Amino acid sequence: MQHEGSYGDLFINRFNDYYEKNRFTDEARASQILEWMGKFDNSIQCSDSWFNVSAKGLAEYKHCDGDLLLNWKNRGYKTLLDILRVLHSMSCNYRNSRFHCLTSKKIAKQTSELIVVKMQTTMFAKRRQNVEIERSCIHVETDNINIHSRESPKLETSKTCRLFHRSKHKHPDHLEVFPIFENIRCSTEVKKIDYVNPNEITITTHTGEDIKANNVIFTASLGVLKHDYTSLFNPPLPRSKELAINGLNIGTVNKIFLEFSHQWWPTEAADFEFLWPEEEKKKFLEETPAEDHWLLDVFGFFTVDYQPRILCGWITGEGARDMETLPACEVKEKIYGLLKKFLDKKYIIPSPDKILTSKWHSDSSFRGSYSFRSLTSEDRNVWASDLAHPIVTGVNKPIILFAGEATHSHYYSTVHGAVMTGFREANRLIEYYARGSAS
Ligand SMILES: Cc1cc2nc3c(=O)[nH]c(=O)nc-3n(C[C@H](O)[C@H](O)[C@H](O)COP(=O)(O)OP(=O)(O)OC[C@H]3O[C@@H](n4cnc5c(N)ncnc54)[C@H](O)[C@@H]3O)c2cc1C
Repeated sequence: MQHEGSYGDLFINRFNDYYEKNRFTDEARASQILEWMGKFDNSIQCSDSWFNVSAKGLAEYKHCDGDLLLNWKNRGYKTLLDILRVLHSMSCNYRNSRFHCLTSKKIAKQTSELIVVKMQTTMFAKRRQNVEIERSCIHVETDNINIHSRESPKLETSKTCRLFHRSKHKHPDHLEVFPIFENIRCSTEVKKIDYVNPNEITITTHTGEDIKANNVIFTASLGVLKHDYTSLFNPPLPRSKELAINGLNIGTVNKIFLEFSHQWWPTEAADFEFLWPEEEKKKFLEETPAEDHWLLDVFGFFTVDYQPRILCGWITGEGARDMETLPACEVKEKIYGLLKKFLDKKYIIPSPDKILTSKWHSDSSFRGSYSFRSLTSEDRNVWASDLAHPIVTGVNKPIILFAGEATHSHYYSTVHGAVMTGFREANRLIEYYARGSAS
């Protein structure tokens, strides 16, 4: 796709061409569908409007192979985080001598294969924790997570996930505990990265702790960078980096989970999308107070696999940011009104029991959902590679390195993109030190 200008313009041109040849519905309906597609696409691109998405930038995006809708049954994506949390707590417990851990652990290279840990453990913990050895596999049971080996299929309940190792011989000294877990500080905010002395970088945390480092890989989001880069780094980042931070964009996409007392929609339903006839929209804008106009940015609700009483709504852009400022009870009431407005004629909808919404924009650890390539990025000619470029010393030692989804040229806005950039920067350091250039 070689196209100057916005993705929105490109899409509409193509849609109109198609519509001219295939008049699949009347014009009013076609324009409602087009408007809905714009909103839906904002959830994919994470822009407020598709007229701000660079078509050229979007052409750089690559789809990932594999199962895009991979489902973890009722455990969800957070399974990955649970695994890491369990490993971290095991490591802490090890340090506290609550149990005895004999071997090495390794985070393997390909997370897409979810091959995470090599571990032999001789530990029998008390009460709620239960771990037993089974040749390089671990069995862990805690309140939060069960991890079982492949050899124990009967234990694979819905709460189960697996870890298994890839190679038995990666760590020559398997008595040594892989040190990374011991060095992780959870719930610790970095306030300052001082690289005045490139041979000893000082990272200051919100608790006032100073951590010394040879190199730093910075992985906070583009939103955090935009908001905090002037206070985070000393000396200030070079102009080129500043241009990249300001030129790239991150938007807001939020989810709205509603839990009902029972499933009131047909089991085969996948989603409910809201198309606003022009007159309806006009009336809504005239009759509803301005503080409720965020509802127009909710473009639909989806059923959730393995959660028969839950619907998940999507909202983007300014409306998503406005929603974040409201109390949950108000959002619930307004969203319920919206559902009834569109679906009341067909279904008897009970008031939702519970609501849960994300707040990616106002969360100071994220300040946005995921990055996109805007027309501003295109105009200023700044791309992910500019953000990814490390800060190096006069002798080319990379001292501050940048990873995270926004730094991936093709897989930006995704988890796999984020993971790959972590490996990219780790490899950059490995290569640097392998060249024997350590200073
Ligand atoms: C609604 C929604 C749906 C999505 N759907 C998908 C999908 O289907 N598939 C997909 O692949 N991706 C999806 N994504 C995108 C994906 O979640 C992100 O691309 C990915 O999480 C980015 O990872 P990251 O490590 O680059 O950044 P982040 O996830 O932002 O991680 C950065 C970390 O840095 C920490 N941090 C920030 N500031 C500091 C500080 N000062 N000190 C210390 N730590 C700090 C944060 O707490 C955070 O843990 C979705 C995102 C959203 C919001």
